[in-house]
Amino acid sequence: DVRHGPILYLEDVSVSFDGFKAIDDLNLTIDDGELRCIIGPNGAGKTTMMDIITGKTRPDRGQAWFGSRHNLLQMDEPQIANLGIGRKFQKPTVFEALSVSANLELAMVGDRRVWKTLLARLDHEGRERIDEIMETIGLSAERDRLAGVLSHGQKQWLEIGMLLMQRPRLLLVDEPVAGMTEPEMHRTAELMTRLAGQQSVVVVEHDMGFVRSIARTVTVLDQGSVLAEGSMDEVANDPRVIEVYLGG
Ligand code: ADP
Repeated sequence: DVRHGPILYLEDVSVSFDGFKAIDDLNLTIDDGELRCIIGPNGAGKTTMMDIITGKTRPDRGQAWFGSRHNLLQMDEPQIANLGIGRKFQKPTVFEALSVSANLELAMVGDRRVWKTLLARLDHEGRERIDEIMETIGLSAERDRLAGVLSHGQKQWLEIGMLLMQRPRLLLVDEPVAGMTEPEMHRTAELMTRLAGQQSVVVVEHDMGFVRSIARTVTVLDQGSVLAEGSMDEVANDPRVIEVYLGG
């Protein structure tokens, strides 16, 4: 799926917490427009890896580049967000007392602390974008419902839609299907696949059925570095992967 070279490039990245190496010589390349799944046992370093990409955690050493021009290690969290890296955390954090469309309107202002300035920006173009995103996330029929009454799955999709309002180039998604029903998982797989046509998507997920249903390339993390990388079948049959999942 290589289109225009890597959008994200991590080289020999390491970080320790109190002497414990959470990330240990991690190498990762995500191509533009790629859909990548990251799996690995608890404590493998998946969250820490996402924290490094978004600037929440500074690595002790290594390189982290966004495209060929942006050195992520010289930027702070808001600067990195402004590059177009959107992160979806595991739990939905939508504004429950607002409608679906109002949540998307608010998300036009990336920094939630300044969302009140949004009203000034709600022009025609913004409304068109909101309609388009509601369509993408499958919530057009719910546009005027309060976010608080949506199902868990719908809240997750809404939050992804809120990230899309910022036109990200790279979307980091943390365990999207945790707590979802089977039909919701199915729709989420479709959504992830569709989104990867528009931007790069990195999904951290435990649910192997889900990973199998969407992944083209799977990266398996263990003890802070890449244990295996390849198609789902390749990694699932890799004896080292079987060992960390069954023996771990
Ligand atoms: P995963 O998301 O794959 O479960 P994490 O990235 O959360 O793994 O954690 C990797 C390891 O680093 C774990 O052993 C965890 O306890 C440790 N760790 C993560 N963040 C911190 C921190 N802020 N302080 C100390 N240890 C941490």
